[in-house]
Amino acid sequence: MTAPHDAQARRAIAPVICYPVETLPAPDMALLTAARADLVKTSETLIPARDAACFTVPAGHFFRITSVQGPQVGDLNLWNANDLNERFYSGKTRALHGTHITTGDRMWSSFPALRPMATITHDTLGWYGIDDFGGSVHDVIGTRCDPYTHNLLSGGQYHHCCHSNLTRALAAQLKLPLDQAETFVHDVLNVFMCTGFTRDTGQYFMKASPVRPGDYLEFFAEIDLLGCLSACPGGDCSAEHSSDAAACHPLLVETFAAKPGALDAWQPPASNSYDRSHGPG
Ligand SMILES: [Zn+2]
Repeated sequence: MTAPHDAQARRAIAPVICYPVETLPAPDMALLTAARADLVKTSETLIPARDAACFTVPAGHFFRITSVQGPQVGDLNLWNANDLNERFYSGKTRALHGTHITTGDRMWSSFPALRPMATITHDTLGWYGIDDFGGSVHDVIGTRCDPYTHNLLSGGQYHHCCHSNLTRALAAQLKLPLDQAETFVHDVLNVFMCTGFTRDTGQYFMKASPVRPGDYLEFFAEIDLLGCLSACPGGDCSAEHSSDAAACHPLLVETFAAKPGALDAWQPPASNSYDRSHGPG
């Protein structure tokens, strides 16, 4: 194919940001930072290696995902605990905040609510930035490892992909048949995973996570949350997933309450105010 005579000029046009975030409702980070300085632990859930478990977080509480024992990536799903149809919207979160999220960014929910479900209040890997390969940590570009793609590419039946782990854990939590639970599983936040797109072919890549035991990612629950976290069979995702080959470790989820009065100034987010009439006629 022959390029047009002005190909270089067309390529040289500067990009514009699709969604400038200056008008995006911002979290009160000063309030949340002050509140998180004095937290009381209310529960903990250990996510077994190559498996998943659910946890709940009341609105106005915090939760933390911590690496324990060894480098490990986690695949996180979040739902409105009172309405499973409102779930984490990875694609719109990516459009608003970029390919990877960190302190001050928010996990946005699906239409029609489109509101912050959780705000990241601390990230011990916040120092990582973007490396020379274009890689960064905590992505909203991957989907979740799943047995269908594995079957497509490699054949066989592998049952401990994050998709199946999340499905089993959600089914057990809600006492639903597996096929019903599966319909609620959605694209994840890849906690601690180091990923990007190759510069030459634009392909999704992963590399060994920089996470080490003691590192954590902490969130503030803006609404009542049901969470489900899978400790990915890829381990630190340095080589492969969708098999039992990688060294895998548990992940710890802890929930915390702020001291009474610390969040009196906080307002839970309302659902989106678009009227949903969609302009008929
Ligand atoms: Zn996975």
